[in-house]
Amino acid sequence: MIVWFVAALAAMVVLSHTAPVPTSVDDAAGPRALWHVPPRGDRPTVYLTYDDGPNPTATPALLEVLARLEARATFFVIDTHVTRDTAPILRQMFARGHGVALHSADRWLLTASPAELSATLERAAAHIEQLAGSRPCAAFRPHGGWRSARMYRGLARGGYTLVGWSWMAWDWNWFRRRTGESVADRVARRARDGTIAVIHDGHHENPRANRQYAVEATERLVPALRERGFVFGSICDVVGPDGVAPEPPPTPRRQPARVPIRGRELTQIVTRAPRSSGERDPHGAPSWPGSCVEKRGALTPRDEADTCAVRNARSAAPMNGASARVVDVP
Ligand SMILES: [Zn+2]
Repeated sequence: MIVWFVAALAAMVVLSHTAPVPTSVDDAAGPRALWHVPPRGDRPTVYLTYDDGPNPTATPALLEVLARLEARATFFVIDTHVTRDTAPILRQMFARGHGVALHSADRWLLTASPAELSATLERAAAHIEQLAGSRPCAAFRPHGGWRSARMYRGLARGGYTLVGWSWMAWDWNWFRRRTGESVADRVARRARDGTIAVIHDGHHENPRANRQYAVEATERLVPALRERGFVFGSICDVVGPDGVAPEPPPTPRRQPARVPIRGRELTQIVTRAPRSSGERDPHGAPSWPGSCVEKRGALTPRDEADTCAVRNARSAAPMNGASARVVDVP
């Protein structure tokens, strides 16, 4: 009896560190874990990600397909595959606006100390920057999705977000050979707003593996998703410079009030005056000429009379670090 209990417990512990879905280990990491992107824009977005490259036999063809279909993606590359020979592939990724982020080829990185892990990532990022001219963004995907609380501490130390993938939006078949068709079908079926799909354009041990299926899958997937209204985003736009994914926006989303100002609309006032001894009332009149008090949230018609905010909005060149957004009336 005890043996079974211990075995079940051990299985649960192993699964929480290796399962291809977020587990308690990821929950505890808060914003350092990204397994699905919260809705961000007006249009449903899919994040195509490619692992284990750069692969000179597949990645250039893949980049051509993405360019022809005008879709952006994110490449999780393995540091040791980045060489003088493959660096031009990375340069192309950067130049075409794709995300480039770090991947690992070692499952047991989950046992590395936080200091070791952050040093490893820093070395890899510097190596890529030196060879390809740009730095990968602050996203990291561990090999096979193997992770630990210790790994998350290392990521926090280095300023990285761990990026997983959405349920079943992956390219491995448990028992069958993968083909472009089967992978495209599965990912398309599973795609929702914020889906992170993972496809392998490389192999962690073989830097020149045959990954033609990844090129074919992409060729089918992009038009199929676009037809359903999806756009394609980069994970590097989602993780901030310090690697912390933003909080999901509050739901339901409120439309800000729109106040016409001579054919334009002020959608929000985010004017901000520097705190000074002259400031009296955060909601009252400005306390010195040419400055604005802070005002957040939707505009009310009364705000139209707020000459300070309106002036800032009109000039669209807000002063003193203040900002106000103006949109044209459709
Ligand atoms: Zn991998």
